[in-house]
Amino acid sequence: MILTPDVEFILKRLNEKGHRADVVGGPVRDFLRGVTPSDYDITTSATPEETKAAFSDFKTVDTGIKHGTVTLVLNSTPYEITTYRIDGEYTDSRHPDSVTFTRRIEEDLSRRDFTVNAISYNPRDGITDPFLGREDIEKRIIRAVGDPYLRFSEDALRILRALRFSSALGFEIEENTAKALVEKSCLLTEISAERIFTEWKKLLSGDGAFSVLSRFSSVLTYFLPELKSLVLPSDAALSEDFLVRQAAIFYLSCENPSESYKSAMLRLKTDSFTRDMGEKILDNVGKYKLSSFSDAGFMLKELGAEAADYTVRLEAVLGKKTKEQQAYLSEYLDRGLPYKVGDLKIDGNALRSLGLRGREIGESLDKLLSAVIFGRVKNEEAALLAYIKSN
Ligand code: ATP
Ligand code: MG
Repeated sequence: MILTPDVEFILKRLNEKGHRADVVGGPVRDFLRGVTPSDYDITTSATPEETKAAFSDFKTVDTGIKHGTVTLVLNSTPYEITTYRIDGEYTDSRHPDSVTFTRRIEEDLSRRDFTVNAISYNPRDGITDPFLGREDIEKRIIRAVGDPYLRFSEDALRILRALRFSSALGFEIEENTAKALVEKSCLLTEISAERIFTEWKKLLSGDGAFSVLSRFSSVLTYFLPELKSLVLPSDAALSEDFLVRQAAIFYLSCENPSESYKSAMLRLKTDSFTRDMGEKILDNVGKYKLSSFSDAGFMLKELGAEAADYTVRLEAVLGKKTKEQQAYLSEYLDRGLPYKVGDLKIDGNALRSLGLRGREIGESLDKLLSAVIFGRVKNEEAALLAYIKSN
């Protein structure tokens, strides 16, 4: 496995201090399936104190000292270094009651969720793969480490993670793992909104999202009951991002899409962009006809460029707008045609000099903008002033 100079340095430094250290999880999995890792998690036999001592000449942050994680900042990149650990008993389907550090990597790997995520590597010891994750990567299979019923009962988030990896990697979920996750899916109600949303977003963003969801739709009802009559968009929606995909699903599956969407996003404690933009575009499906440049200008004026773009993309996914109609919008923007009050060649002061006051000014500017968009007046100061005087 090819490591970056930073990662090699970290592993070597820990070795020099008498500890074992490995790259683990995502980066090893990604390397083995031929994908360049995006970040490197490191696991070590050193305790957090020993890790900090080994890097006393660098900046470290106590990210989760209790769970054994120290973040080392190297060339402005953060690296999470976590002590090998064994999770204690789980009594709440969420967190282990306690964690214990161990000096054996195999024990650390055994607490990990899926065989494909339970592989480690370092240049000195090579690959450590006690659960045959490499074989599962080759066969493209998501399989729980150990008894899937037990593993999903311990931490129910793993149910959603199985679907997420299946969607993102295009791997099948092994039969027993699949059976267990469906049977245990009611435990998802115990999981915090933030953890759910993180995994849900990755699941729905994956290339395999729709096939995973159609097969495991029952799992969804435990965190998105709004989608109990799930209807998925066509695969054309796979060219779209999470926001559009999610809005499309709500549109197709709910009686009152924007209301259901908003309450679901509030419950999942999403970021405000996801919540507000999704609600806005669901409210605007079908509202703008978009059969000319002027229509495009009007839609941009009413919604703003970002929401107009998202709305049309959602409508396209739903088969309610064509490519040509989408093109009106992008061309209108490309040409730099006016759609905001600020684009008018006149401002409030000029209107004030005509004797307009307060709200009248805003209303007149809005009227002028519409007139410019629909070609009733040129966007030139003299013409705009004359238009206001005569209307
Ligand atoms: P990604 O590339 O999406 O970050 P990843 O495999 O790194 O994928 P993370 O969520 O970053 O996924 O988790 C890092 C590693 O920690 C996983 O590979 C897995 O070994 C372990 N892990 C994470 N969450 C859990 C969990 N809930 N239960 C058991 N192991 C977990
Ligand atoms: Mg990761």
